[in-house]
Amino acid sequence: MKRLAVCGSTGSIGVSTLDVVLRNRSRYEIFALTAHSNVDKLAAQCRLWRPRFAVMSDESAAMRLAAVLSTEGVETRVLAGASGLVQVAMHPDVDYVMAAIVGGAGLMPSIAAARSGKRILLANKEALVMAGRLFMDAVREGGAELLPIDSEHNAIFQCLPALNSDRGERGVSRILLTGSGGPFRARKPESLHDVTPDEACAHPNWSMGRKISVDSATMMNKGLEVIEACRLFDVDPGSVEVVVHPQSVVHSMVEYGDGSVLAQLGNPDMRTPIAHALAWPDRIASGVAPLDLVSTSRLDFEAPDFDRFPCLRLGFEVAEAGGAAPAALNAANEVAVDAFLNRRLRFTRIARVAEATVAACAGEGPGTLDDVLDLDRRARARAAEFVRAMSS
Ligand code: NAD
Ligand code: MG
Repeated sequence: MKRLAVCGSTGSIGVSTLDVVLRNRSRYEIFALTAHSNVDKLAAQCRLWRPRFAVMSDESAAMRLAAVLSTEGVETRVLAGASGLVQVAMHPDVDYVMAAIVGGAGLMPSIAAARSGKRILLANKEALVMAGRLFMDAVREGGAELLPIDSEHNAIFQCLPALNSDRGERGVSRILLTGSGGPFRARKPESLHDVTPDEACAHPNWSMGRKISVDSATMMNKGLEVIEACRLFDVDPGSVEVVVHPQSVVHSMVEYGDGSVLAQLGNPDMRTPIAHALAWPDRIASGVAPLDLVSTSRLDFEAPDFDRFPCLRLGFEVAEAGGAAPAALNAANEVAVDAFLNRRLRFTRIARVAEATVAACAGEGPGTLDDVLDLDRRARARAAEFVRAMSS
Protein backbone atom coordinates (compact mmCIF):
# COMPACT_ATOMS: atom_id res chain seq x y z
CA MET A 1 0.00 0.00 0.00
CA LYS A 2 1.41 3.38 -1.00
CA ARG A 3 0.07 6.43 0.81
CA LEU A 4 -0.73 9.34 -1.44
CA ALA A 5 -1.11 13.09 -0.85
CA VAL A 6 -3.06 14.66 -3.71
CA CYS A 7 -2.22 18.37 -3.81
CA GLY A 8 -4.88 20.10 -5.91
CA SER A 9 -7.37 17.22 -5.57
CA THR A 10 -10.39 19.28 -6.70
CA GLY A 11 -8.84 20.23 -10.04
CA SER A 12 -8.84 18.45 -13.37
CA ILE A 13 -5.67 16.44 -12.66
CA GLY A 14 -6.68 15.83 -9.03
CA VAL A 15 -10.04 14.36 -10.03
CA SER A 16 -8.41 12.16 -12.70
CA THR A 17 -5.91 10.96 -10.09
CA LEU A 18 -8.68 9.93 -7.70
CA ASP A 19 -10.40 8.12 -10.56
CA VAL A 20 -7.26 6.05 -11.23
CA VAL A 21 -6.83 5.33 -7.50
CA LEU A 22 -10.46 4.20 -7.28
CA ARG A 23 -9.67 1.53 -9.89
CA ASN A 24 -6.62 0.39 -7.90
CA ARG A 25 -7.73 0.64 -4.29
CA SER A 26 -5.67 -2.34 -3.17
CA ARG A 27 -2.43 -0.52 -4.12
CA TYR A 28 -2.99 3.07 -2.93
CA GLU A 29 -4.41 4.82 0.10
CA ILE A 30 -5.43 8.48 0.07
CA PHE A 31 -3.60 10.10 2.99
CA ALA A 32 -4.26 13.78 2.24
CA LEU A 33 -6.35 15.90 -0.10
CA THR A 34 -5.84 19.62 -0.70
CA ALA A 35 -7.70 22.44 -2.44
CA HIS A 36 -7.75 26.21 -2.54
CA SER A 37 -11.29 27.26 -1.60
CA ASN A 38 -13.93 24.85 -2.97
CA VAL A 39 -15.36 23.57 0.34
CA ASP A 40 -18.22 21.57 -1.17
CA LYS A 41 -15.99 19.62 -3.54
CA LEU A 42 -13.29 18.88 -0.95
CA ALA A 43 -15.94 17.88 1.61
CA ALA A 44 -17.44 15.42 -0.90
CA GLN A 45 -13.97 13.95 -1.56
CA CYS A 46 -13.32 13.63 2.19
CA ARG A 47 -16.63 11.79 2.69
CA LEU A 48 -15.62 9.27 0.04
CA TRP A 49 -11.92 8.87 0.80
CA ARG A 50 -11.72 9.54 4.55
CA PRO A 51 -8.14 10.89 4.32
CA ARG A 52 -6.11 11.54 7.47
CA PHE A 53 -5.65 15.22 6.43
CA ALA A 54 -7.45 17.77 4.27
CA VAL A 55 -5.83 21.14 3.57
CA MET A 56 -7.46 24.30 2.28
CA SER A 57 -5.03 27.05 1.39
CA ASP A 58 -7.79 29.61 1.96
CA GLU A 59 -8.04 29.95 5.76
CA SER A 60 -11.75 30.80 5.98
CA ALA A 61 -12.59 27.89 3.66
CA ALA A 62 -10.58 25.61 5.98
CA MET A 63 -12.72 26.69 8.93
CA ARG A 64 -15.91 25.99 6.97
CA LEU A 65 -14.62 22.57 5.89
CA ALA A 66 -13.70 21.65 9.47
CA ALA A 67 -17.22 22.60 10.61
CA VAL A 68 -18.90 20.55 7.87
CA LEU A 69 -16.76 17.45 8.50
CA SER A 70 -17.13 17.54 12.27
CA THR A 71 -20.96 17.76 12.15
CA GLU A 72 -20.93 14.71 9.86
CA GLY A 73 -18.51 12.76 12.04
CA VAL A 74 -15.78 12.55 9.35
CA GLU A 75 -12.52 12.21 11.24
CA THR A 76 -10.28 13.98 8.73
CA ARG A 77 -8.01 16.61 10.31
CA VAL A 78 -8.28 19.97 8.53
CA LEU A 79 -5.20 22.16 8.07
CA ALA A 80 -5.08 25.66 6.60
CA GLY A 81 -2.80 27.79 4.48
CA ALA A 82 0.50 27.28 2.68
CA SER A 83 2.07 25.72 5.80
CA GLY A 84 -0.61 23.01 5.79
CA LEU A 85 0.28 22.11 2.20
CA VAL A 86 3.96 21.79 3.10
CA GLN A 87 3.12 19.77 6.21
CA VAL A 88 1.25 17.07 4.28
CA ALA A 89 3.72 17.02 1.37
CA MET A 90 6.59 16.16 3.73
CA HIS A 91 4.65 14.02 6.22
CA PRO A 92 6.69 10.93 7.15
CA ASP A 93 3.71 8.63 6.45
CA VAL A 94 3.36 9.87 2.85
CA ASP A 95 4.99 7.87 0.04
CA TYR A 96 3.73 9.65 -3.09
CA VAL A 97 2.81 13.30 -3.68
CA MET A 98 0.68 14.26 -6.67
CA ALA A 99 1.75 17.87 -7.42
CA ALA A 100 -1.37 19.15 -9.20
CA ILE A 101 -1.79 22.65 -7.79
CA VAL A 102 -1.91 25.20 -10.59
CA GLY A 103 0.77 27.90 -10.74
CA GLY A 104 3.49 29.14 -8.41
CA ALA A 105 1.41 28.22 -5.32
CA GLY A 106 2.51 24.64 -5.95
CA LEU A 107 6.22 25.33 -5.59
CA MET A 108 6.76 25.03 -1.82
CA PRO A 109 4.83 21.77 -1.29
CA SER A 110 6.74 20.19 -4.20
CA ILE A 111 10.08 21.33 -2.82
CA ALA A 112 9.08 19.96 0.60
CA ALA A 113 8.21 16.62 -1.02
CA ALA A 114 11.52 16.63 -2.91
CA ARG A 115 13.56 17.34 0.21
CA SER A 116 11.80 14.55 2.09
CA GLY A 117 12.53 11.99 -0.59
CA LYS A 118 8.99 11.30 -1.81
CA ARG A 119 7.93 10.04 -5.22
CA ILE A 120 6.67 13.25 -6.83
CA LEU A 121 4.15 12.98 -9.64
CA LEU A 122 4.72 16.37 -11.21
CA ALA A 123 1.84 17.96 -13.09
CA ASN A 124 2.62 21.47 -11.81
CA LYS A 125 5.12 22.52 -14.51
CA GLU A 126 5.08 26.14 -13.30
CA ALA A 127 7.05 25.13 -10.17
CA LEU A 128 9.81 23.56 -12.25
CA VAL A 129 9.94 26.52 -14.64
CA MET A 130 10.22 28.93 -11.68
CA ALA A 131 12.83 27.14 -9.63
CA GLY A 132 14.67 25.24 -12.39
CA ARG A 133 17.94 23.79 -11.18
CA LEU A 134 17.11 24.43 -7.51
CA PHE A 135 14.10 22.14 -7.90
CA MET A 136 16.18 19.41 -9.57
CA ASP A 137 18.89 19.80 -6.88
CA ALA A 138 16.26 19.35 -4.15
CA VAL A 139 15.08 16.15 -5.85
CA ARG A 140 18.60 14.79 -6.09
CA GLU A 141 19.71 15.81 -2.61
CA GLY A 142 16.49 14.57 -1.01
CA GLY A 143 16.70 11.24 -2.81
CA ALA A 144 13.24 11.85 -4.30
CA GLU A 145 11.82 10.27 -7.47
CA LEU A 146 10.45 12.76 -9.98
CA LEU A 147 7.96 11.34 -12.47
CA PRO A 148 6.43 13.65 -15.06
CA ILE A 149 2.65 13.79 -15.42
CA ASP A 150 2.58 16.36 -18.22
CA SER A 151 1.58 14.08 -21.10
CA GLU A 152 4.50 15.08 -23.37
CA HIS A 153 7.11 14.67 -20.66
CA ASN A 154 5.59 11.43 -19.49
CA ALA A 155 5.78 10.22 -23.11
CA ILE A 156 9.43 11.28 -23.37
CA PHE A 157 10.19 9.56 -20.06
CA GLN A 158 8.65 6.38 -21.47
CA CYS A 159 10.72 6.67 -24.69
CA LEU A 160 14.04 7.43 -22.99
CA PRO A 161 16.31 4.59 -21.93
CA ALA A 162 16.37 5.77 -18.29
CA LEU A 163 15.93 9.08 -16.51
CA ASN A 164 19.24 10.77 -15.66
CA SER A 165 21.23 8.29 -17.71
CA ASP A 166 24.08 9.50 -19.88
CA ARG A 167 22.18 10.30 -23.04
CA GLY A 168 25.32 11.01 -25.06
CA GLU A 169 26.36 7.38 -24.76
CA ARG A 170 22.85 6.14 -25.25
CA GLY A 171 22.58 8.02 -28.50
CA VAL A 172 19.63 10.39 -27.98
CA SER A 173 19.87 13.17 -30.56
CA ARG A 174 16.61 15.14 -30.21
CA ILE A 175 13.42 15.44 -28.24
CA LEU A 176 10.34 16.00 -30.38
CA LEU A 177 7.71 17.70 -28.25
CA THR A 178 4.25 17.48 -29.82
CA GLY A 179 1.47 20.02 -29.30
CA SER A 180 -2.04 20.18 -30.71
CA GLY A 181 -1.79 23.89 -31.58
CA GLY A 182 -4.81 24.55 -29.36
CA PRO A 183 -8.19 25.98 -30.40
CA PHE A 184 -6.67 28.77 -32.55
CA ARG A 185 -4.19 26.73 -34.61
CA ALA A 186 -5.82 27.66 -37.89
CA ARG A 187 -7.21 31.10 -37.00
CA LYS A 188 -5.83 34.26 -38.64
CA PRO A 189 -3.76 36.25 -36.10
CA GLU A 190 -5.93 39.38 -36.74
CA SER A 191 -9.03 37.44 -35.66
CA LEU A 192 -7.59 36.72 -32.20
CA HIS A 193 -7.99 40.26 -30.91
CA ASP A 194 -11.53 39.77 -29.58
CA VAL A 195 -11.53 36.16 -28.39
CA THR A 196 -13.36 35.52 -25.11
CA PRO A 197 -12.16 33.40 -22.15
CA ASP A 198 -14.70 30.70 -23.02
CA GLU A 199 -13.46 30.50 -26.63
CA ALA A 200 -9.85 30.28 -25.44
CA CYS A 201 -10.75 27.53 -22.92
CA ALA A 202 -12.54 25.36 -25.50
CA HIS A 203 -9.63 23.01 -26.25
CA PRO A 204 -10.29 20.62 -29.15
CA ASN A 205 -8.77 17.49 -27.52
CA TRP A 206 -8.14 17.95 -23.79
CA SER A 207 -10.41 18.88 -20.89
CA MET A 208 -8.30 20.89 -18.42
CA GLY A 209 -8.37 23.72 -15.86
CA ARG A 210 -8.86 27.23 -17.22
CA LYS A 211 -5.32 28.53 -16.73
CA ILE A 212 -3.62 25.74 -18.68
CA SER A 213 -6.39 25.92 -21.29
CA VAL A 214 -5.53 29.57 -21.99
CA ASP A 215 -1.84 28.61 -22.03
CA SER A 216 -2.66 26.03 -24.69
CA ALA A 217 -4.52 28.63 -26.76
CA THR A 218 -1.54 31.05 -26.69
CA MET A 219 0.89 28.08 -26.96
CA MET A 220 2.65 29.50 -23.89
CA ASN A 221 1.96 26.01 -22.54
CA LYS A 222 4.32 24.57 -25.15
CA GLY A 223 6.87 27.30 -24.36
CA LEU A 224 6.75 26.36 -20.66
CA GLU A 225 7.01 22.71 -21.67
CA VAL A 226 10.22 23.36 -23.63
CA ILE A 227 11.74 24.77 -20.42
CA GLU A 228 10.26 21.88 -18.43
CA ALA A 229 11.84 19.34 -20.81
CA CYS A 230 15.26 21.01 -20.60
CA ARG A 231 15.15 20.80 -16.81
CA LEU A 232 13.68 17.31 -16.45
CA PHE A 233 15.90 15.63 -19.02
CA ASP A 234 18.94 17.92 -18.72
CA VAL A 235 19.06 18.92 -22.40
CA ASP A 236 19.65 22.22 -24.21
CA PRO A 237 16.75 24.01 -25.90
CA GLY A 238 18.57 23.46 -29.20
CA SER A 239 17.87 19.75 -29.00
CA VAL A 240 14.14 20.21 -28.34
CA GLU A 241 11.88 20.61 -31.36
CA VAL A 242 8.17 21.41 -31.21
CA VAL A 243 6.00 19.57 -33.72
CA VAL A 244 2.34 20.54 -34.14
CA HIS A 245 0.15 17.44 -34.16
CA PRO A 246 -3.56 18.35 -34.14
CA GLN A 247 -4.91 14.90 -33.16
CA SER A 248 -3.00 14.68 -29.80
CA VAL A 249 -2.45 10.94 -30.22
CA VAL A 250 1.37 10.96 -30.39
CA HIS A 251 2.23 12.51 -27.02
CA SER A 252 5.91 13.15 -27.87
CA MET A 253 8.93 11.38 -29.35
CA VAL A 254 12.63 10.74 -28.78
CA GLU A 255 14.98 10.61 -31.74
CA TYR A 256 18.16 8.50 -31.61
CA GLY A 257 21.37 8.89 -33.62
CA ASP A 258 20.75 5.71 -35.59
CA GLY A 259 17.59 7.18 -37.15
CA SER A 260 15.14 5.52 -34.76
CA VAL A 261 12.30 7.66 -33.44
CA LEU A 262 10.38 6.27 -30.47
CA ALA A 263 6.92 7.66 -29.83
CA GLN A 264 4.32 7.10 -27.12
CA LEU A 265 0.73 7.02 -28.38
CA GLY A 266 -2.62 6.96 -26.65
CA ASN A 267 -5.99 8.63 -26.41
CA PRO A 268 -5.73 12.16 -25.00
CA ASP A 269 -6.68 11.36 -21.40
CA MET A 270 -4.47 12.35 -18.46
CA ARG A 271 -5.35 9.15 -16.60
CA THR A 272 -2.73 7.38 -18.75
CA PRO A 273 0.30 9.39 -17.56
CA ILE A 274 -1.15 9.45 -14.02
CA ALA A 275 -1.48 5.65 -13.94
CA HIS A 276 1.97 5.28 -15.48
CA ALA A 277 3.65 7.46 -12.86
CA LEU A 278 1.71 5.95 -9.95
CA ALA A 279 2.64 2.39 -10.85
CA TRP A 280 6.05 2.87 -12.49
CA PRO A 281 7.81 0.59 -13.30
CA ASP A 282 4.63 -1.54 -13.23
CA ARG A 283 1.48 -0.87 -15.24
CA ILE A 284 -2.04 -0.56 -13.82
CA ALA A 285 -5.53 0.00 -15.23
CA SER A 286 -6.33 3.66 -15.91
CA GLY A 287 -9.86 3.51 -17.30
CA VAL A 288 -8.65 4.98 -20.60
CA ALA A 289 -10.18 3.35 -23.69
CA PRO A 290 -7.73 1.50 -25.95
CA LEU A 291 -6.46 3.54 -28.88
CA ASP A 292 -8.30 2.67 -32.07
CA LEU A 293 -5.82 3.51 -34.80
CA VAL A 294 -8.15 2.50 -37.60
CA SER A 295 -10.85 4.96 -36.54
CA THR A 296 -8.19 7.61 -35.81
CA SER A 297 -7.18 6.94 -39.43
CA ARG A 298 -4.68 9.78 -39.82
CA LEU A 299 -1.96 11.52 -37.86
CA ASP A 300 -0.87 14.95 -39.12
CA PHE A 301 2.31 16.83 -38.26
CA GLU A 302 3.30 20.41 -39.12
CA ALA A 303 5.89 23.01 -38.15
CA PRO A 304 4.80 25.54 -35.51
CA ASP A 305 4.02 29.09 -36.63
CA PHE A 306 6.11 31.34 -34.38
CA ASP A 307 4.53 34.53 -35.79
CA ARG A 308 1.02 33.41 -34.96
CA PHE A 309 2.16 32.15 -31.54
CA PRO A 310 4.71 34.64 -30.12
CA CYS A 311 4.48 32.93 -26.69
CA LEU A 312 6.05 29.80 -28.16
CA ARG A 313 8.92 31.80 -29.63
CA LEU A 314 9.33 33.53 -26.26
CA GLY A 315 9.45 30.14 -24.53
CA PHE A 316 12.44 29.09 -26.65
CA GLU A 317 14.17 32.46 -26.14
CA VAL A 318 13.69 32.25 -22.39
CA ALA A 319 14.90 28.63 -22.28
CA GLU A 320 18.03 29.78 -24.13
CA ALA A 321 18.54 32.89 -21.96
CA GLY A 322 18.14 31.12 -18.59
CA GLY A 323 18.99 33.26 -15.55
CA ALA A 324 16.00 35.17 -14.22
CA ALA A 325 14.03 34.77 -17.44
CA PRO A 326 12.09 31.50 -16.81
CA ALA A 327 10.76 32.59 -13.41
CA ALA A 328 9.89 36.04 -14.80
CA LEU A 329 8.10 34.46 -17.77
CA ASN A 330 6.04 32.19 -15.55
CA ALA A 331 5.06 34.99 -13.15
CA ALA A 332 4.12 37.37 -15.99
CA ASN A 333 2.09 34.70 -17.72
CA GLU A 334 0.13 33.87 -14.56
CA VAL A 335 -0.70 37.55 -14.06
CA ALA A 336 -1.61 38.11 -17.72
CA VAL A 337 -3.76 34.96 -17.99
CA ASP A 338 -5.61 35.89 -14.81
CA ALA A 339 -6.26 39.38 -16.24
CA PHE A 340 -7.48 37.84 -19.51
CA LEU A 341 -9.80 35.39 -17.70
CA ASN A 342 -11.22 38.33 -15.75
CA ARG A 343 -11.64 40.37 -18.93
CA ARG A 344 -9.06 42.99 -17.99
CA LEU A 345 -6.66 42.16 -20.84
CA ARG A 346 -7.06 41.16 -24.46
CA PHE A 347 -5.93 37.70 -25.52
CA THR A 348 -3.27 39.04 -27.90
CA ARG A 349 -1.71 41.13 -25.14
CA ILE A 350 -0.79 38.14 -22.97
CA ALA A 351 2.35 37.68 -25.09
CA ARG A 352 3.19 41.38 -24.87
CA VAL A 353 2.91 41.45 -21.07
CA ALA A 354 5.11 38.36 -20.87
CA GLU A 355 7.73 39.73 -23.23
CA ALA A 356 7.90 43.13 -21.52
CA THR A 357 8.17 41.55 -18.06
CA VAL A 358 10.95 39.17 -19.11
CA ALA A 359 12.88 42.14 -20.55
CA ALA A 360 12.29 44.23 -17.40
CA CYS A 361 13.40 41.45 -15.03
CA ALA A 362 16.48 40.24 -16.94
CA GLY A 363 19.38 39.23 -14.72
CA GLU A 364 21.14 36.50 -12.83
CA GLY A 365 19.30 33.30 -12.02
CA PRO A 366 18.06 32.90 -8.45
CA GLY A 367 20.63 31.26 -6.17
CA THR A 368 18.23 30.23 -3.38
CA LEU A 369 14.54 29.52 -3.01
CA ASP A 370 14.09 32.87 -1.27
CA ASP A 371 15.56 34.48 -4.40
CA VAL A 372 13.02 32.56 -6.50
CA LEU A 373 10.13 33.83 -4.36
CA ASP A 374 11.52 37.37 -4.43
CA LEU A 375 11.98 37.32 -8.21
CA ASP A 376 8.46 35.89 -8.58
CA ARG A 377 7.01 38.77 -6.48
CA ARG A 378 8.93 41.42 -8.43
CA ALA A 379 7.96 39.96 -11.80
CA ARG A 380 4.28 39.77 -10.78
CA ALA A 381 4.35 43.43 -9.73
CA ARG A 382 5.94 44.49 -13.04
CA ALA A 383 3.52 42.35 -15.03
CA ALA A 384 0.57 43.93 -13.18
CA GLU A 385 1.89 47.37 -14.22
CA PHE A 386 2.11 46.24 -17.85
CA VAL A 387 -1.41 44.80 -17.66
CA ARG A 388 -2.73 48.16 -16.39
CA ALA A 389 -0.88 50.06 -19.12
CA MET A 390 -2.05 47.69 -21.87
CA SER A 391 -5.65 47.33 -20.77
CA SER A 392 -6.55 50.97 -21.35
P1 NAD B 1 -7.29 23.15 -12.12
O1 NAD B 1 -7.48 24.61 -12.17
O2 NAD B 1 -8.36 22.27 -12.64
O3 NAD B 1 -6.99 22.70 -10.60
C1 NAD B 1 -6.08 23.37 -9.80
C2 NAD B 1 -6.05 22.81 -8.39
O4 NAD B 1 -5.14 23.63 -7.63
C3 NAD B 1 -7.38 22.85 -7.66
O5 NAD B 1 -7.50 21.75 -6.80
C4 NAD B 1 -7.30 24.14 -6.83
O6 NAD B 1 -8.09 24.10 -5.64
C5 NAD B 1 -5.82 24.18 -6.50
N1 NAD B 1 -5.33 25.55 -6.29
C6 NAD B 1 -5.54 26.62 -7.11
N2 NAD B 1 -4.94 27.72 -6.61
C7 NAD B 1 -4.34 27.34 -5.46
C8 NAD B 1 -3.58 28.03 -4.48
N3 NAD B 1 -3.30 29.35 -4.58
N4 NAD B 1 -3.10 27.33 -3.43
C9 NAD B 1 -3.36 26.01 -3.31
N5 NAD B 1 -4.09 25.30 -4.20
C10 NAD B 1 -4.57 25.95 -5.27
O7 NAD B 1 -5.91 22.86 -12.86
P2 NAD B 1 -5.45 21.54 -13.64
O8 NAD B 1 -5.87 21.60 -15.05
O9 NAD B 1 -5.79 20.32 -12.82
O10 NAD B 1 -3.85 21.74 -13.65
C11 NAD B 1 -3.08 21.53 -12.48
C12 NAD B 1 -1.61 21.56 -12.86
O11 NAD B 1 -1.34 20.48 -13.75
C13 NAD B 1 -1.17 22.83 -13.62
O12 NAD B 1 0.12 23.17 -13.23
C14 NAD B 1 -1.19 22.41 -15.07
O13 NAD B 1 -0.25 23.12 -15.85
C15 NAD B 1 -0.77 20.96 -14.95
N6 NAD B 1 -1.24 20.12 -16.07
C16 NAD B 1 -2.57 19.92 -16.26
C17 NAD B 1 -3.02 19.13 -17.31
C18 NAD B 1 -4.49 18.86 -17.50
O14 NAD B 1 -4.83 18.07 -18.39
N7 NAD B 1 -5.39 19.45 -16.74
C19 NAD B 1 -2.08 18.57 -18.19
C20 NAD B 1 -0.72 18.80 -17.98
C21 NAD B 1 -0.31 19.57 -16.91
MG1 MG C 1 1.37 19.00 -21.71
